Amino acid sequence: MSLVPCTMMSRRHFCLCCVSSAAFAATGGWLTPREAFAEARGLVTLFKDSAAVSPIVTHKLRNNISVLEGSGGNVGVLTGPDGKVLIDAGFGVSRPQITKALADLGAEPIRRLINTHWHFDHTDGNPWLNSEGAKIIAQENTRKYLSEVQRVEDWDYNFLPLPAGGIPTEVFASEYSLKLNGSSIGLKRYAPAHTDSDISVTFGEADIVHVGDTFWNGIYPFIDYSTGGSIGGMIAASDANLAATKDTTIIIPGHGKPVSNKAELKEFRDMLVAIRDNVAGLKKQGRSRDEAVAAKPTAAFDARYGASVIDPGFFTRLVYEGV
Ligand SMILES: [Zn+2]
Repeated sequence: MSLVPCTMMSRRHFCLCCVSSAAFAATGGWLTPREAFAEARGLVTLFKDSAAVSPIVTHKLRNNISVLEGSGGNVGVLTGPDGKVLIDAGFGVSRPQITKALADLGAEPIRRLINTHWHFDHTDGNPWLNSEGAKIIAQENTRKYLSEVQRVEDWDYNFLPLPAGGIPTEVFASEYSLKLNGSSIGLKRYAPAHTDSDISVTFGEADIVHVGDTFWNGIYPFIDYSTGGSIGGMIAASDANLAATKDTTIIIPGHGKPVSNKAELKEFRDMLVAIRDNVAGLKKQGRSRDEAVAAKPTAAFDARYGASVIDPGFFTRLVYEGV
């Protein structure tokens, strides 16, 4: 299939769709996401190049919490007298835009950074944020993965360890809590889902939760089998997210439209279950991976979720790997 030109996409799909377009432009011809992933080494660079020129859009939520859109994963921000607390770091190349967006939210220094998991589009900015004074908190596997070379087979890419300043110094196994800026902040590890380092970050009083890459709002998710992810784990995490939220909860997804809710989360969860069942049925019939892709088991959901770099074929292959 061909990529949808970026101009046809709504702003909500900004990050991944613009990367698709960048890949398209860079090759001077139609490049399907499958081909793009075969060129994944180049694509990782394109993610960063795209972020370097992307504006950062700030969405104010409630109490003193906002979300910044436009640099890798959605970045949560809590402001107040104890200093700013960031949830995820985006790409280092976005430093000028993020610095400006943060300054617009208040003059206080950046004191803490929480990583929702180890992936580069959530941690690449760790070193500069640490140099500004942010202490970095994460699940212990995030520290482990950021300290070593990581091979992600489905990206055909080896990620190098972060410089020392970018490695989390405050880690936990399953749960951790903080009280900052009048907000109770609860960090909770998921059972392995998108990776085996995923956590949720809950702001109790504000009824807001950042669920990291266990939820991609309006686009098919990446699942990282190289560090413990699986389709079954993604579904279990979605169920855990549904159980932990109310109709009034503001849910910040790792990717996609950054201000979400339980209804959209439920839709995402039901999509995962339906496609998992379809692909499992095909595999049980003895269909090969390519035959499963050709059978279009995602067809009913493609109009809603299929217009990003994780296209229907790529997502089908990720699901096939885990059923
Ligand atoms: Zn991720």
